[in-house]
Amino acid sequence: MDDAAISALKFDEKGLIPAVLQDWRDGTVLMVAYMNRESLEKTLETGIAHFWSRSRQALWEKGATSGHRQRVREIFVDCDQDTLLITVTPEGPACHTGERACFFSRLSDLVASCEGGAKTTESHGGVLDRVYEAILERKRAPTPESYVASLLKAGQDKILKKVTEEAGEVLLASKGQKREEIVHEAADLLFHLLVALGYHEIPPAEIYQELARRFGKSGLEEKQSRGR
Ligand SMILES: [Zn+2]
Repeated sequence: MDDAAISALKFDEKGLIPAVLQDWRDGTVLMVAYMNRESLEKTLETGIAHFWSRSRQALWEKGATSGHRQRVREIFVDCDQDTLLITVTPEGPACHTGERACFFSRLSDLVASCEGGAKTTESHGGVLDRVYEAILERKRAPTPESYVASLLKAGQDKILKKVTEEAGEVLLASKGQKREEIVHEAADLLFHLLVALGYHEIPPAEIYQELARRFGKSGLEEKQSRGR
């Protein structure tokens, strides 16, 4: 984004533009803050998110004191050129409360109770994270009719047998060139893989992190970095 690109942005009457910060690894919306031209230029120059603090009326390098810097990956602009979407690799919690992201309250919880409701991470990530949470919920509170609970109760070998079975079914579907079946079997495989992760209590976020670490490296470099 050069000078011309910055000039194309529609800053408001106070010279500000809202910026949405998103963790590029899993799509979690981390926080929203305002930038002016100077903070955007600083962000571009340093690769670290800088904002304009409306309360302190000052340039604000996010994480300058806490160390929780937000390393910028890419900057997108919306269709009206009046909002920025900044994908980042966070070096710590984005929220000043110490939460990973600012959106840990449900609106309905706020309405129900003056103190605010229970904290939730359900605004984080996407469908794999929701499925994983449902699996952990079944692990903690098993019900007799739950398939996941019965798998977890049967033990690791049973879960792993399902993973290999489903992998075999992906293979057959793929060989059969049937798109719909490949989708179906791949979903089964991912689901059972999530059950295996749930068995070990390894959240999908750790897998995203590992994939992110590898992303951009060639397969060769990746092998070298693992010392193989
Ligand atoms: Zn916050």
